[in-house]
Amino acid sequence: MVGIQIGAVSFVDEGTEKVIDALREMGGVNALFVAAFTYGRGIAGRQPRGSPLPDHGVQEYDDAFRGGNFATPHPELYRRTRIAPEKAPDHPGYDVLADVIPPAHRRGVKVIAWFEDVFRKDVPGLDQAVETDPHGRPTARLCLRNPDTREFWLALVEDYLRHYDLDGLMWGSERQGPLDNALGASHGGPARPGEVGCFCSHCLAAARARGIDPERAREGFLALERWAGELMAGRRPADGAFVTFWRILVDYPEVLGWERLWNEGLRDTYREMHARARSLAPGKPIGWHIWHNNSFSPFYRAEQDYAAFGPYSDFLKVVIYNNCAGPRMAHYVRNLNATLFADLSPEETLQLTYKLQQYPNEKPLERIAREGLGPDYVRRETRRAVTGVPAGVKIWPGIDVDIPTGADEKKTRPEDVAAAVEAAFEGGAHGIILSRKYSEMTLANLRAAGQAVRGLVRA
Ligand SMILES: [Zn+2]
Repeated sequence: MVGIQIGAVSFVDEGTEKVIDALREMGGVNALFVAAFTYGRGIAGRQPRGSPLPDHGVQEYDDAFRGGNFATPHPELYRRTRIAPEKAPDHPGYDVLADVIPPAHRRGVKVIAWFEDVFRKDVPGLDQAVETDPHGRPTARLCLRNPDTREFWLALVEDYLRHYDLDGLMWGSERQGPLDNALGASHGGPARPGEVGCFCSHCLAAARARGIDPERAREGFLALERWAGELMAGRRPADGAFVTFWRILVDYPEVLGWERLWNEGLRDTYREMHARARSLAPGKPIGWHIWHNNSFSPFYRAEQDYAAFGPYSDFLKVVIYNNCAGPRMAHYVRNLNATLFADLSPEETLQLTYKLQQYPNEKPLERIAREGLGPDYVRRETRRAVTGVPAGVKIWPGIDVDIPTGADEKKTRPEDVAAAVEAAFEGGAHGIILSRKYSEMTLANLRAAGQAVRGLVRA
């Protein structure tokens, strides 16, 4: 399985049959992971302004990108949710799945609908389903336990499987629980304990049903808000950052209960989507994109228990983007060094992170942003996933091809792609997914993937 993630814009800009033939020829691609639903720029649209346009496709920035469903939503399936099933207005009259599936299948190329948990704030009905923070304020993120949210994802699964001759589905949610977010434990935004979720009525009821006191959890997150606020303002408590954090955890174990509660909401979403797909199309795989934070944060990593994915997963796309992993790891280290690990130096924070995650011999902080992580990282993380999942769950690592990084940070070269592809298969991968989207990849790097695959096939 040699897959590639690709958005509607590439077929519209470059011609459907021409693109499929080029991907087969250059990249050895035999499966298209078509970005079918998202409001985000990570997997759809051309390059956002600020990133160079690659050496193919229309050489103009699509600043008016909006997103939504790039196929055709069938409204009768969405009666049980108030979240509007919007057709993406970006390519009027165009349905990417209807357009791509027939010519792909004529060439023996599979098509998997790829959709993600990324919305815009102004999607009609979104306000009915958002998470509530510890202060009782609405956020802009969907609550995964809210029935409108759950029904929206189930309707989308049904819509794609009923109306298109797909070869599978892949969904991704690049989010984590409230305790992890309270620490800023990711390569994304900083710690914001006062804005975490979820304290909506559905989550409060779920907590009470499990014997967790919501008021104690709320007080615990407000204590974390004060703790992180002091540290991020540069004030160090006399007992240090770690000890004062642990004191809050012991005083308010409910915050850990809330972390588990949030993860159960996500796992139940996986479980129900898998069951719905199974009931409609028993032979078609459905699996999950596992966020890159799995490579940086031991806290998030602990919550991605590969063994537990078995009952509701046919495959996992484990993100193992080795080039941008360098700057992203450096970013994670800065975030944690501002809160939980403020007692350590940034380099010590990085070395602790490596050790806790069994990363031997990785580069020091001053080098990782410019050099990225190497193919050993791809090999190790692939092997960890392959040995971790129950038999029958396929591992298709996501391979970094030109994922944007900042100025002076690691850029993808053809030899990086070739080494990562080889390392993934050496680690026991059942396939690979070239990521994140064709519209940000250069042709030389795509060709390097194809050459590596052909070399492995010959060997
Ligand atoms: Zn909620």
